[in-house]
Amino acid sequence: MAFSIFRAHQAILQWRPCTLSTFGRTIHTFREVQPLRTFRKELRGSQKTVGFVPTMGALHEGHMSLVRQAAAENTDVFVSIYVNPTQFGVNEDLDSYPKTWQEDMDKLQTLNKELESDIGAGRITAVFAPTTKVMYPTLPPSSEISGSGSFVTVTPLGSLLEGASRPVFFRGVATVCMKLFNIVMPERVYFGQKDVQQTVVIRRMVKDFHLDTEVKIGPTEREADGLALSSRNVYLGARRREVGVVLSRTLKAAEKKYLQGKRLRADILWPANEVSTSKMMEQDDLPPSKRARIEVDYISLADPDTMEEVDVVDPSKGAILSGAIKMLPLEEPQEGEDCGLGGGVVPVRLIDNIILQPID
Ligand code: AMP
Repeated sequence: MAFSIFRAHQAILQWRPCTLSTFGRTIHTFREVQPLRTFRKELRGSQKTVGFVPTMGALHEGHMSLVRQAAAENTDVFVSIYVNPTQFGVNEDLDSYPKTWQEDMDKLQTLNKELESDIGAGRITAVFAPTTKVMYPTLPPSSEISGSGSFVTVTPLGSLLEGASRPVFFRGVATVCMKLFNIVMPERVYFGQKDVQQTVVIRRMVKDFHLDTEVKIGPTEREADGLALSSRNVYLGARRREVGVVLSRTLKAAEKKYLQGKRLRADILWPANEVSTSKMMEQDDLPPSKRARIEVDYISLADPDTMEEVDVVDPSKGAILSGAIKMLPLEEPQEGEDCGLGGGVVPVRLIDNIILQPID
């Protein structure tokens, strides 16, 4: 008896290692698994539902829109903030990923206040910010393709497109999401359309492993000119930011053809290739002090379930138009120029997509 009282007392202490109060509902932050599980079980016991939004932090309006959606459909929203090392390749710079913990917590608190005025909406009640030792308790995580460890792989889906350019990426994403879902046991999980292949991989994983959660997808949040919001945009700076909008314009040009009734791959993709190629040539012709050069990784027209390339779009099924470009480092940053975080030397990969909706 004395032991269980001690355990219960300990659990209560661990439950709320850090709490941020927002008018009666509190955001609890957890760095360990067990206290989070205890809190989560308590919610289940009182018929509450959890909507879970996994993130890598550096929160922006894209993340916030997912949290809002989760709050509209659940009593409690859990957000994880964890920069997962296993989805970064050995040559990708994990350390330079932006980390803005205090700003992130402030944004979540502000959003919780906003939710106060929305009768019936849930609240953010937990932030899970584990260490890598907590997430990968047995072995240090490997970013090698042949690395050892307990991994979830979804193939061939995870090897296409983004996976072709970043071979360990979806293995890392699927693995960390499996861990997070097992820890949080959410009724619903929320992912952004912005990372479309990720949504297809996660849906497939949930289906194939019979995970007891519902996958919900929120729309891509964009800047006014169409650039998709991304935590990495802070590295662009003004010059690359202006040129980077070419990706969404490229995809829009292809979408227009589909909406005009074109179904053949060549008919849909040629205007897209024209937009990106002319922007590349325009920049190449400028002097190094003025230009922001780009490389196109891929422009894809793919099946919505398999992400395999299609030659003809089946209008009853629709398709996914997606693309990735690399904004190369600035060659000659100018005195006083806004070069973005990192001074313009970090190459920035931009991805975007448009769903070509089925047409009956
Ligand atoms: P990240 O922190 O980049 O791993 O993203 C966490 C979640 O936010 C993922 O489900 C992303 O797809 C989603 N997300 C990122 N950017 C956007 C955006 N611009 N609009 C909607 N969702 C987004």
